[in-house]
Amino acid sequence: MILIYIDNSEGQVKKASLEAASYGVALAKQMGKSATGICVGNVADDALQILGEYGLEKILNVKADYLNNFDSGSHTKAIAKAVAHTGAEVVVLSHNYNGKALSARLSANLKAGLVAGATDLPNTEGGFTIKKSVFSGKAFANFSINTDKKIVSINPNAFGLHKNDVTLSVEAFDAGLSDADVKVKVISVEKASDTIPLSDAELVVSAGRGLKGPENWGMIEDLATTLGAATACSRPVSDVNWRPHHEHVGQTGITIRPNLYIAVAISGAIQHLAGVNSSKTIVVINKDSEAPFFKAADYGIVGDAFEVVPKLNEAIKAYKAAV
Ligand code: FAD
Repeated sequence: MILIYIDNSEGQVKKASLEAASYGVALAKQMGKSATGICVGNVADDALQILGEYGLEKILNVKADYLNNFDSGSHTKAIAKAVAHTGAEVVVLSHNYNGKALSARLSANLKAGLVAGATDLPNTEGGFTIKKSVFSGKAFANFSINTDKKIVSINPNAFGLHKNDVTLSVEAFDAGLSDADVKVKVISVEKASDTIPLSDAELVVSAGRGLKGPENWGMIEDLATTLGAATACSRPVSDVNWRPHHEHVGQTGITIRPNLYIAVAISGAIQHLAGVNSSKTIVVINKDSEAPFFKAADYGIVGDAFEVVPKLNEAIKAYKAAV
């Protein structure tokens, strides 16, 4: 049995969970086992139905008002209870913010080996060996898990979404939790912005110190709006508060793997690349043809961002209007 953690927020399944489900269902098929989801939060059964489109046939739903906000302690207890209930051998989670917190706690709780940030399905012939990226994405390593219970967190966008329509049944699950299990209470939530969350974004427009000041980000936001993309930035930009810290990508910021990463006036330092070099397609706009980022780029434009970005935006708008 493969147990898949269904991450959620504000009553909705996160995109990362659709990928975890795709992965868990494929793993179950490969191992000749079944797959079940475990959702902990306050998600209506109807909102879980989307997981049936990704091959999941059953979900255990732990639903309560006091689980409205993510809390790694109580969620770990609920997943561990579901592992005991189902006899699951492998737990699959997304290697996103919540998944990172849960997988470590769960590993200690279940005394289970954990591969955090897997990039592929394991090789299960005569063992359980799994590939993950190491050294900030510069190399891959294969790890073998030898414990009876195994935990795998999958890097966002590494496996992708795999449609496989089945009928999903949702079962209420009593994880034995109460309000007292939620040790950290969220008093209020203030959203940083209404824009697309960076970690979930398939398209990202990012800019660096070459833009010279926060007043010049209008053209970056315009391009992002035209594309339906999230915005990101290099570290010096957030260090001087030109942009909020949650937009900072790289070794000391967040790691993203969008389908398209457009880097505007960013030099491409190794610490920046560490957070973005697994993006499917990288477009670099830089006035210096020797900028290191061009070596990592699929497409490059050598030019002044203040000329190129507005023109690119107009061209994309015209293209969208024509199709
Ligand atoms: P710059 O290096 O100043 O580059 C600006 C670029 O803009 C240049 O390539 C220039 O040619 C171009 N440019 C200038 N004007 C224009 C124009 N008009 N049109 C087009 N192009 C133009 N950095 C991160 O981003 N993320 C991290 O997580 C991170 N972690 C770090 C951790 C450590 C321990 C250390 C030591 C550093 C870290 N850094 C990180 C910093 C990193 O080393 C670089 O200093 C930083 O990424 C550079 O940011 P930048 O490319 O925006 O700025």
